[in-house]
Amino acid sequence: MSYQNLLAELDLGFTTLRNRVVMGSMHTGMEDRFWNYPKLAAYFRERARGGTGLIVTGGISPNREGWLLPFGGTLNSVFDLRNHRLLTQAVHEEGGKIALQILHAGRYGYQPFVVSASALKSPISKFKPRALSEAGIARTVRAYARCARLAQRAGYDGIEIMGSEGYLLNQFLSPRTNQRNDQYGGSIENRMRLPREIVEAVRAACGERFIVIYRLSLIDLVDGGTTWDETVQVAQALETAGVTMFNTGIGWHEARVPTIVTSVPRAAFAPLSARLKAAVRVPVIVSNRINTPELAERLIAEGAGDLVSLARPLLADPEFVVKTAENRAHEINTCIACNQACLDHTFQNKRATCLVNPRAGRETELVYRPLATGSTPRKVAVVGAGPAGLSAASVAAARGHRVTLFDAASVVGGQFNLAMRVPGKEEFAETIRYFSSQLQRHAVDIRLDTRVDAALLAAGGYDDVIVATGIVPRKPGIAGIDGPNVLSYVEVLRGAPVGRTVAVIGAGGIGFDVSEFLLHPPGAPLPMPRDAWLDEWGVDLSVTTRGGLKRPDEPHPPREIWLLQRKAGKLGAGLGKTSGWVHRATLARNGVHMLDDVTYDEIGARGLKISRGGETQWLEVETIVVCAGQESLRELYPATQAAEGTRYHLIGGAALATELDAKRAIREGAELAARL
Ligand code: FAD
Ligand code: NAP
Ligand code: SF4
Repeated sequence: MSYQNLLAELDLGFTTLRNRVVMGSMHTGMEDRFWNYPKLAAYFRERARGGTGLIVTGGISPNREGWLLPFGGTLNSVFDLRNHRLLTQAVHEEGGKIALQILHAGRYGYQPFVVSASALKSPISKFKPRALSEAGIARTVRAYARCARLAQRAGYDGIEIMGSEGYLLNQFLSPRTNQRNDQYGGSIENRMRLPREIVEAVRAACGERFIVIYRLSLIDLVDGGTTWDETVQVAQALETAGVTMFNTGIGWHEARVPTIVTSVPRAAFAPLSARLKAAVRVPVIVSNRINTPELAERLIAEGAGDLVSLARPLLADPEFVVKTAENRAHEINTCIACNQACLDHTFQNKRATCLVNPRAGRETELVYRPLATGSTPRKVAVVGAGPAGLSAASVAAARGHRVTLFDAASVVGGQFNLAMRVPGKEEFAETIRYFSSQLQRHAVDIRLDTRVDAALLAAGGYDDVIVATGIVPRKPGIAGIDGPNVLSYVEVLRGAPVGRTVAVIGAGGIGFDVSEFLLHPPGAPLPMPRDAWLDEWGVDLSVTTRGGLKRPDEPHPPREIWLLQRKAGKLGAGLGKTSGWVHRATLARNGVHMLDDVTYDEIGARGLKISRGGETQWLEVETIVVCAGQESLRELYPATQAAEGTRYHLIGGAALATELDAKRAIREGAELAARL
């Protein structure tokens, strides 16, 4: 396939971008601490070396009031220039361009100095904001201009003004949060005054030859947000004020509609960018759930935007552009939109990385060094081609070792072959495709349909054996567990017939996934088409109502489900911060009964007998599905290691089944292989 639109240069008059790929802003955690800037520079350098046209940094505050978190990254003094020059220099040395995102969190700030248009607390921060006075507004405008000018002095090619996702400038634009009755409140002309003054002040401070991106919220997805007509009015005013290009923002952080998790259809919101593009003369960046070059190319070709914003996809694969240009798109490590190692880490104040690429954000720490010339490659057996084994085999072989990969199954991928069958998790197939391409590229000897035993390993004469044999599903000791009406999650996901009424034992990630699988109407297409998804979540892309919300479609669940756990407390509490609420909302909308504090008494022909709060009852269900966690499968790992000869290693589920997820499995495989 040709990617002529995606790879075409973009001439902005005063500067040229080498292609249409913009790395969207992501908070990594490194930008907040000066000592992490060398690591941040290495992270950006890899993405620039991989061909990215324009990189946008994580959000940097123009002043203390704008902090997202206490002592968050701020650019308001010449003393900050040295750190930022590390970043701009690294990117420029690789032929890329970089813009600093200026982010004022407004009432989303999780710190005591928060300000906003009006003194209205947000549902996602405990700090009530102070309403900015007119003098305070003027100071804020000056802070933006100062920050932009400092960015220019630090060598940035431009800035992005964060005007979406519900941050300060959105708070001024929207009647939901702006209840002022001075010249900054009331009419849309007044509500947009602050963003317009900021663009004008930045332009005046930095001159014409500086990129000014404005990230504009095209649909707020909250009651009382802006309408489409207002958004166009704002865009045109900001264009006149001096914006070089618009980036697309979708949904406020407090919105109850998912915008980037894996179940959101790819490019679900692209029609909005197309509409904006038709209303302005400057270039538009299309964004959200774009993760393949084919899709990016098509969006530009069809006029949905002039550029594409890839944020998480460039965490997953810094070489996205180079691989696209070299016709190696099948080798791209695709972002599966799980949020597990990027956004979820950010919310836990941990450094952002990537589930499918554990090097992201750790470029200086996790290095895959090729074997030194003259050194002898090791003969390595990897047993188990799940995420852990695939990761270990790919990295070891890429470094130059001789690797044989075994699996008892007839395909590689381990449990990801089950995960990808869950509606809304189709992206997980991309990880299997990526690793398969790496096995082939690095000439791994793959032996499928081969159940490995100790004798086979002994006969192989391996230097290293990596035991990545994963887990076996736990079978709880409940009376009647072997009955004909009981199925394991493996059997269900492989297509075993399931009744119309179901009790699911265990409400971890898999209990939730299996419930969603069972709620999927038979014959309905997967992945879910965009329009059906928009109707399910009540999204109106015409944005004629404020915020673009409409009444969600009435669900017609094909089954009645009871999802159960023994511990007391909210079900799904252990799911990811940024995705768990989506799963809970989906099950709640479909009428799933979620019960905590349950004791399983017995299983019989009537169904499942449980006790709860001192009362016993029969759940009269046709099928009971067991999703009660897992236990390690590690019989190939010797109890003691011989002092000489084969070295044995244990990774992934085989090492530890508790708290196991693919993030740990892939990371352990890569870290071990990097050390071999
Ligand atoms: P596995 O994936 O279990 O792979 C082990 C492999 O070893 C298997 O292919 C098996 O056939 C092979 N094997 C075992 N014994 C032998 C032998 N003797 N000889 C040869 N081969 C052998 N994780 C997440 O992080 N996020 C999610 O959203 C997520 N969703 C999931 C949804 C479902 C429905 C399921 C089932 C799992 C999900 N997981 C998710 C969990 C994730 O898939 C596991 O954590 C991960 O697969 C563990 O990797 P692993 O390589 O250790 O083991
Ligand atoms: P899990 O998260 O550990 O959940 C296991 C469930 O089984 C819990 O609800 C547990 O709760 C219950 N349980 C444990 N022992 C039991 C027993 N003896 N009898 C009855 N119930 C028992 O494991 P999982 O759902 O199997 O998932 C495996 C891994 O895959 C997880 O660690 C998860 O990270 C990953 N995963 C992630 C996602 C995601 O969306 N991020 C999705 C799927 C899977 P009680 O003990 O309270 O009953
Ligand atoms: Fe994408 Fe998941 Fe990696 Fe985040 S952690 S970049 S969502 S694959």
